[in-house]
Formats: sequence, C-alpha cells, structure tokens
Amino acid sequence: MSVVLVVDQERKPLAPAHPGRARLLLNAAKAAVLRRYPFTIILKTVVPAAQPDSLRLKIDPGSKTTGIAVVHDATGQVVWAAELAHRGQQVTERLAQRRACRRSRRQRHTRYRPARFANRRRRGGWLPPSLESRLATVRTWVERLRHSAPIDAISLELVTFDTQLMQDAEISGVEDQQGTLAGYEVKEYLLEKWGRKCAYCGATDRPLQVEHIAPRVRHGSDRVSNLTLACTTCNQAKGKRTAEEFGYPQIQAQARVPLRDAAAVNATRWALFHRLSALGLPLETGTGGRTKWNRTRRDLPKTHWLDAACVGSSTPETVTIAGVVPLLIRATGRHSRQMCRTNAAGFPDKAPKATSVVGGFRTGDMVRAVVPSTSAKAGVYAGRIAIRASGSCNITTATGTVQGIHVRYCQPLQRGDGYAYTKGAALPPQA
Ligand SMILES: [Zn+2]
Repeated sequence: MSVVLVVDQERKPLAPAHPGRARLLLNAAKAAVLRRYPFTIILKTVVPAAQPDSLRLKIDPGSKTTGIAVVHDATGQVVWAAELAHRGQQVTERLAQRRACRRSRRQRHTRYRPARFANRRRRGGWLPPSLESRLATVRTWVERLRHSAPIDAISLELVTFDTQLMQDAEISGVEDQQGTLAGYEVKEYLLEKWGRKCAYCGATDRPLQVEHIAPRVRHGSDRVSNLTLACTTCNQAKGKRTAEEFGYPQIQAQARVPLRDAAAVNATRWALFHRLSALGLPLETGTGGRTKWNRTRRDLPKTHWLDAACVGSSTPETVTIAGVVPLLIRATGRHSRQMCRTNAAGFPDKAPKATSVVGGFRTGDMVRAVVPSTSAKAGVYAGRIAIRASGSCNITTATGTVQGIHVRYCQPLQRGDGYAYTKGAALPPQA
C-alpha cells in the first residue's frame, strides 16, 4: 500500500507509517497533518531514539516525465512513488514569446540603440532554461523527500547502456543474448548505434529485433560488430543471407565502427548526476538496459515510477508494489511574471496581471470546496484552484475542471508550491 510519511516534532524523518496507524495517531491528537501532497504527518513529540530503516530514493529521469520511487531495499517494498511531469515545453514557449515581444519592440522606429546581441557570455555548465527547469524540479523533489523520509541512498539511471560491457562485446561478443542483462544492454547499445530504426528499410514505427549481419546458421558471431537492428519483415526477407547478399554491403562496414562513448550519456543526465552527488548521499548509477531487464524479469508493467523502482543493481529480487498509488506531480510554475501581456497576434496590449490573491487564495492552492445544495454547482470538490477576480473560480479535480465555484465555499488544503497534484491509478494486483 501507499504509506504515510512521518516526521517527529523536530521534523526528523521517521519510518513511514501504515495509513491505519497514521489515522489512529491523528484521531488521538498525537500527530497533525503537515502536508497533504505528499501526505505527511508530524508527531507532537520528539523521538530521539528512533532509528528508522534506511530507504533508497530511485530516479528514472525523462525529458517529459521523471519516475520517482522510494524503495525499502531489505524487503523490496515500494514505499512511495510519484511521476513528475516537467514544464520544459512551457518554459520554451514563454521564452519564445518574450523573444518575439523584444524583437517587435526593437524593430520599432525609435532612437538609435547600439547592437547588444553579441555581448553575452555563458558561464561554464550553462544549460538551456527548459533543461535547467527539469534539473531543478528533480532536485527539489529529492530534497523534499529527504526531509520527510529516512532516505540514505539514491539510485539514478544515468546512461542507456554499459559502455565497458559493450567495449568487451565489440571484441569478444556476448553469449546467450536474449533475456539476459547483457542482452538488454546490447539491445540498448544497438538502438543508440543504429539510430532506433531498421538498418535495412529505415522503419521506426515498429518493434525492432536484434539481427545477425552474417547469420548464425552460417557461423556468424555474436559480436556486437556482427549485430544490427531489423524489423520483422526485413529480418524474415533476409533469411539466411548476409547483409551483402541481401543488397546492403555498407551495413557490415557500418557495424564495425564502435559507437563513441560520449553518445551514451546525455548532457542533462550528467548534470543531474553532478547535482545529486553534491547532496552527499551515496549515489548509485544504473543503465537503461539494466532497468528494462530488472523490470521485465520481475514481470512489472512499464510505467515511469516502476522504471524508477527498477534502476540499478541494488534492485531487490522481489519488488512489492501491491496497492501503491503513485502521486502525479505536474510542475506548473508560480504565478505569471510577465510585465506586458500580449493579444492573440502577439501584440503587447495589456498590463501585467493585477491582483493574484482573491479571498485569501492564489492560483495553484489546493482547496476543498463544499457548495451547498441551494447552488446549481452543489457538491464537494477538491483540487487545484485557478483564481478569477470575480471570486468565482475554477477548480481542477481529478476528474476535470469545474467552473464557477466561489471562493467563499473553499477551504485551503495546501498552499500553492509550484506543482499540481493528482492521484495516479493503482495497478492491478500482482500475479
Ligand atoms: Zn525493415
């Protein structure tokens, strides 16, 4: 099940509690709710002697969504899970909009201004703002979870395949490819090397198989230099022929060139690695091949949070996920800082957003609204509020957006913190 995070009076993280136990503590007034998302309670006493089991925070960084899982290594229990949706695209769009506004401003017929476009320096380690936002949000969540759970180690998926293993495989080959860890690493390596498409027809939209350039029946080796990727159609059409006989002599030459190491790690993941190293916790790194192998062998479906739970060689033999409901976190940013808003054509014609507080609420606050039966919108709604100056606001619940809920019916659940929260779907019980 999904557990409740617990901290003591001095905010020292304790072992997460069963929801039933948390309810008892809350009903007996021995604890209070500290945060709703993620649900965290604070004890009203100090527990100096507590020595909670250490937990491992596991991260599978993605460009749009990052999977996060907190795993108890000794029992294999997934304690807490989340999927963090980044706002990289939103950042890019906002910057493009700002650029367009500036461009039009500078094109207007005004006094002469010297050119100032080529006088900028970028500091070392600079990343585009959209990537920077991804790193910052992941770091924020690592920090937050460290403050509410006894996390002693981090696992991070850093690379798509094991470079050392592939260098060996280029020379001596890997035995028994399908289904083993080496097999998964080889597949990831080949996907990278052959650009994620069929080497023969170039198809990208169908499953790809590992294919022997000189077929095994004709004593082709298992070396990576004899392997490529092919779709089922090309694989069957080629049959027992070599790539050259099949009409593709260049493929053999291409296969002999090993993939450069640099291609295996992307810059954002490296940057994330360095930032997480700076936290001072033991940091384990894993490959994408191993994540996939771990997950497939444990018969777990593909989701971002389960990928996270399967990162690295520390993954427990059995991973228990029964009843775990991932928290879906969406980075939304806070407020609008635009000093000049534009119309649909991009022409600046509006003042900055005026008041952002209505009835004590801001856009992004999580609220619970109880609308009385006398109103057409009667009912109970819980979700993220979007403020309207009239006081008649929108609430985005798990099922959709409800318009026209007045702030006087709202009670705050949690103040806006730059993220929107919904509950994910629980998976069917494990077989
Ligand atoms: Zn093909």
